Amino acid sequence: MAAVKNSIPRRQFDVVVVGAGGAGMRCSLQLAQAGLSVAVLSKVFPTRSHTVAAQGGVSASLGNMSEDSWYWHMYDTVKGSDWLGDQDAIEFMCREAPNAVYELEHFGMPFDRNPDGTIYQRPFGGHTANFGEKPVQRACAAADRTGHAMLHTLYQRNVAARTQFFVEWMALDLLRNDAGDVLGVTALEMETGEIYVLEAKQTVLATGGAGRIWAASTNAFINTGDGLGMAARAGFPLQDMEFWQFHPTGVAGAGVLITEGVRGEGGILLNKDGERFMERYAPTLKDLAPRDFVSRSMDQEIKEGRGCGDGSYVVLKLDHLGAETIQKRLPSIREIAIKFANVDPIKDPIPVVPTIHYQMGGIPTNIYGQVVSVANGQTTTVNGLYAIGECAATSVHGANRLGTNSLLDLIVFGRSAGNHIVESHPERQHAHQSIPESAIDFSLDRVNKLETRTDGEKTSDVGNAIRVAMQHHCGVFRTLDLLNKGVDAIESLAPQVDSLYFKDKSKVFNTARIEALEVTNMIEVARATTKSAANRTESRGAHALNDHPDRDDVNWLRHTMWFSEGSRLDYKPVQMKPLTVESFPPKSRTF
Ligand SMILES: Cc1cc2nc3c(=O)[nH]c(=O)nc-3n(C[C@H](O)[C@H](O)[C@H](O)COP(=O)(O)OP(=O)(O)OC[C@H]3O[C@@H](n4cnc5c(N)ncnc54)[C@H](O)[C@@H]3O)c2cc1C
Repeated sequence: MAAVKNSIPRRQFDVVVVGAGGAGMRCSLQLAQAGLSVAVLSKVFPTRSHTVAAQGGVSASLGNMSEDSWYWHMYDTVKGSDWLGDQDAIEFMCREAPNAVYELEHFGMPFDRNPDGTIYQRPFGGHTANFGEKPVQRACAAADRTGHAMLHTLYQRNVAARTQFFVEWMALDLLRNDAGDVLGVTALEMETGEIYVLEAKQTVLATGGAGRIWAASTNAFINTGDGLGMAARAGFPLQDMEFWQFHPTGVAGAGVLITEGVRGEGGILLNKDGERFMERYAPTLKDLAPRDFVSRSMDQEIKEGRGCGDGSYVVLKLDHLGAETIQKRLPSIREIAIKFANVDPIKDPIPVVPTIHYQMGGIPTNIYGQVVSVANGQTTTVNGLYAIGECAATSVHGANRLGTNSLLDLIVFGRSAGNHIVESHPERQHAHQSIPESAIDFSLDRVNKLETRTDGEKTSDVGNAIRVAMQHHCGVFRTLDLLNKGVDAIESLAPQVDSLYFKDKSKVFNTARIEALEVTNMIEVARATTKSAANRTESRGAHALNDHPDRDDVNWLRHTMWFSEGSRLDYKPVQMKPLTVESFPPKSRTF
């Protein structure tokens, strides 16, 4: 039913956090503990957010099992990012990591333990000692369910701190005044179909990734890029959207993730000849090279006819680890392999293919999580808006994220944004600013058009068309021709998104309405991705262009900033200067 403008219910909070994953809940905890009134919105019950699916670990240079330092962690992250990561943010994250992890330990997170009682740490892709010399054990793990342990710990702490959860509420649009300040959101209560205005002195986007714009994805179905859509519609840029990570080991045909922790524990990739091919591509780190590197190597093996079975996948062998290690350290992986690949990894190898997994780009922020924009070469911070977690580009991951650096990013920047809100906004005691009716109308009109349309495009058809186009045009290896065709394919779907239609107009738990609203966000992410990718004429990290196989530091050591209106692009220099140490200058990336 169409929402009635005059009677729209309103609620007021100091802070509205959109998203109850690791990032949102680490931030809300900081806020609630400081006595602020905090509303946390989530499309699903908080502990069902995608963070729960994280398997392998969270990185921190604790040095429990091999000598380590935050400085080596920083070097690995800069190199892993192919020098597109901002070195001030990377230094901040790597320095904060041990404290952030000890804090979780003290919150009660059930990490695996070493015999001496310290946190268990496993090797992971691109994690090295002494600037690339050899693998290091840096990934703090709770078996292969680290995200599950983290998310449940944070949820319980939030309940104790009296955070107010709005479960099965979908945020729709950011509300801005004429000065451009953000004053809250509109949101749909799924149970009733009612739309609310949630007024906030600060709004935090923590909506996670958008991996569901691809057909084959390791991501949860709810990962549709809503925060990115909201930011784009409100006129804010999306940064570095050309960089998407393919995880090397998705189960072939199913997409479900097999953690890199399997290779951390000693698992190896084999081609049809039984050859451990990573020894050829990365002689030092082998199977533990960063993900962009391993995914490209696998793709190459498959293209050159050395794929297994029907030739479309390679296999991950782990039987040599022994039944005991597999059952203790990788119990969920065994379950996934049995259920989704019909193999028991204690005896047989798992068929795997590179599968879309993670967005390195997102809503641009500084190290306090404040959203930044760019105009005429000048960077400005947006009043009242923060972004954290996978939906944000802080940018610590640059062109390629290292495994276990995302869970770390959530807790470091979730906390830092929370602290920044508490410390730098004493004016929060003041009244809420008034929200222009036009901002509310924009959002209600968008929904009302959907509600009242009596004919048009089916949501599932348009959603599928986006996913198929992304899968076809934006793969592990790209060409300019294919990317430009991808831009056209996605732009040609935009009018269809503007005429989405669903038959069932009932209010209560109407999933057709929710899916249609999600597709309006997916299209923005797909437009940003194809356009940004078609304009970056170099290969860097996860953006591998056949026409331009080399990295071009002269022209491309800069971040892409995409604006929805007119699909306009702007650029921003990479922050090469760390906070306190010397910069790591770009060099060639071998492993
Ligand atoms: C299978 C898998 C395994 C992974 N393993 C690891 C690992 O071992 N280590 C690692 O570092 N990283 C890992 N990652 C990456 C990491 O888990 C994610 O990047 C991270 O958990 C994202 O957290 P987040 O808090 O940003 O968002 P999420 O956990 O995705 O949460 C997003 C939240 O936003 C809410 N939301 C979204 N849109 C709306 C809306 N419109 N209105 C209201 N609420 C909304 C959702 O309901 C949800 O609560 C893995 C990812 C996957 C998919």
